[in-house]
Amino acid sequence: MNPVLFFNLYTMKTILPKAAALALTAIMFAACGPSYDVPTALDRWKSDANGTVKGKEISVTAGETLTSGGDYRNFDLTGQAYAENGAEAALLFHSDGQNGYEVLFHNGAIDGTRKTGSLSTVRNLYRSLGEDGEWFDFDIAVREKNISIKINGTDVVCYTEPAQPYRTEANKSKVLSRGGFALVGKKGDVKFRNLTVTMLKDGVLNPNDTLPPVDETTDEIIRLQQENFPVIDYHVHLKGGLTKEQAHAMEMNYGINYGVAPNVGEGGVGRMLANDQEAIEYYNEVKSMAFLMGVQGEGRRWIVQFSPEVLNKFDYLFTDAMTVVDKGRICRIYRPEEVHLDGRTKQQYMDMIVDQTVKILTNEPADIYANATYIPEQGWNDDYDMYWTDERVDKVLDVLEKYDIALEISPRYKIPSFNVIKKAKARGLKFTFGTNNVNADFGRCEYAIQAIKECGITADDIWFPSMSKRANRMAVDYNHFGNKK
Ligand SMILES: [Zn+2]
Repeated sequence: MNPVLFFNLYTMKTILPKAAALALTAIMFAACGPSYDVPTALDRWKSDANGTVKGKEISVTAGETLTSGGDYRNFDLTGQAYAENGAEAALLFHSDGQNGYEVLFHNGAIDGTRKTGSLSTVRNLYRSLGEDGEWFDFDIAVREKNISIKINGTDVVCYTEPAQPYRTEANKSKVLSRGGFALVGKKGDVKFRNLTVTMLKDGVLNPNDTLPPVDETTDEIIRLQQENFPVIDYHVHLKGGLTKEQAHAMEMNYGINYGVAPNVGEGGVGRMLANDQEAIEYYNEVKSMAFLMGVQGEGRRWIVQFSPEVLNKFDYLFTDAMTVVDKGRICRIYRPEEVHLDGRTKQQYMDMIVDQTVKILTNEPADIYANATYIPEQGWNDDYDMYWTDERVDKVLDVLEKYDIALEISPRYKIPSFNVIKKAKARGLKFTFGTNNVNADFGRCEYAIQAIKECGITADDIWFPSMSKRANRMAVDYNHFGNKK
């Protein structure tokens, strides 16, 4: 082929259309204002103290506010952030520098403070997927009524603002509108780099937003979120058809942080991990997901089946007393056919349950006493107060207090009773909420929310993994199972 002809053909096919498109974009930008779907560097900020701050990398320090100017409604903002030693900052959007929605940047231990990726007071998160001393990616997008936040590529918030969002007076500006961005320093220095914003067209939708928005005129969870009361369901199992993906979508939709826990040991229902290797494989499978990572000791033999080093990788460990060793037999008291009275009265059987509960909590290093005060169903629960006498309750609470074990409030079983919860609170014990779901169809911590109101539970009464003492305790093989793996 004639090289000149080739060049001309090549130019017409590739270079010319690109040049034409660029020229067209420039004309559109000049003539029509906003340029949609074009990633643009957000590298000029205004600081009240320092005037204009320019650059690919911007640092914000405690007490300082940087504003971007501009007018954005639907957008996708990407970048990286870096925080050192507990530093904290916020990024506001639809903001004039003070108002608007607030996204938090704050890594570190699960200690009850709100973590990286939180949509402040609307979708507060308690486990950070970013770490101090490392750059991490973030992506914040508004598509009409939907706000999505990703940290290191994982969705941590997918919130759709309903027609009537519930906001307290203090949070009334945290609603969708339009405006610029602001970087607000809260503690230490936080750095941001490669900030890039893409304006999105009207009507754009988030294809991952598939669940209907929550009705906030009646929703209890948004009321807790607005008060920064940590909403965490520590006892969620992937079973009965509940997949990781479904649990992830549900927690973001409801505004409840899920602590997802497999069972380690034997004899329970659903996913059961049998040895250290399976536990490590599971851990690696879920560690970058947006869940707190729990583990449930199941079946009494778990203390000799797993090494503490492996179990201590998980954020927390809980166990219950629904499996007991009665006269040398392992009995699951939630199965009527395994409840053997053997000539004993129900009160005498109850003494055995309390005795076993005390032994379990004394010898098996757990953070949380789950399914607390569970007694066999089929009529026993109608007389809960008759079986859980003050004396028996005190025996169990004594052990919780001695070993700093938290008391789980179970929305599924509606236990412990408010009377027991009040006694535990009076002793200064900590609480967790834990559903112990059977399948994908479970509630939104209703009984626990009732307990907050009835028993005066505050955010200070909630247990967090930073309070864990289990790593300092030794498992005692009180049933003499031996080290049989
Ligand atoms: Zn469970």
